[in-house]
Amino acid sequence: MTTGILHCQQLGKTYTEGPNDVTVLDGVNLDIQSGERIAIVGTSGSGKSTLLHLLGGLDLPTTGSIWVDGQELSGMSDKRRGDIRNEYLGFVYQFHHLLPEFTAVDNVAMPLLIRGVDAKEARDRASTLLSNMGLDDRLSHRPVELSGGERQRAAIARALVTEPSVVLADEPTGNLDEKTADAVFNMMLELNERVGTALVMVTHDTSLAARMDKSYHLERGHLTLG
Ligand code: ADP
Ligand code: MG
Repeated sequence: MTTGILHCQQLGKTYTEGPNDVTVLDGVNLDIQSGERIAIVGTSGSGKSTLLHLLGGLDLPTTGSIWVDGQELSGMSDKRRGDIRNEYLGFVYQFHHLLPEFTAVDNVAMPLLIRGVDAKEARDRASTLLSNMGLDDRLSHRPVELSGGERQRAAIARALVTEPSVVLADEPTGNLDEKTADAVFNMMLELNERVGTALVMVTHDTSLAARMDKSYHLERGHLTLG
């Protein structure tokens, strides 16, 4: 069986922190090919962020397995999983997760520096991408000095800057006005078309979802097509 760049089988997630166990995901299967564009929709609390975090190696499933380019995440050390994330994935968190003590350009340059890209080149590439997102006069601002929409765009730039195999984006345009959302989405599509980056996007925006190849619905722990 050949599988895509990102693949999961029988994924389950049960949170056991509170007084009651909460099963959020129950037997999720998904196979994402290189260059494929996928939307995930579902009501608030249906487990969309949980699923994206698992696929991105940011959290571990209770059951089931995830493979990135054929490499299974759950058996790996945290260090190795971090390396895989940096090599293959770009992640846009639902809430930006920019590092507060760093400027916009340094936040965006960070994944390149982790890869060992020369500091000057990393900052140049980060600056160019931020400028393309309309943030050319915000390069030296720290997150607290940016508006919600500007922070969101910087967080998206950080996910795209390495031109990864897969971008996992959790409601990336949720904080943006329609025009900016459209511009940012088009940048994701440009990367998708130019380098074959697969896009996995959680969204409530049905017009954006309609521009993807497939749309999955997450409900009661199950993921279904359409
Ligand atoms: P969505 O992104 O679709 O709104 P989430 O994945 O954030 O949904 O959350 C799904 C469910 O899991 C919610 O009921 C939420 O309260 C619960 N949940 C999420 N994270 C945790 C956690 N760390 N501990 C316990 N429950 C959690
Ligand atoms: Mg969420």
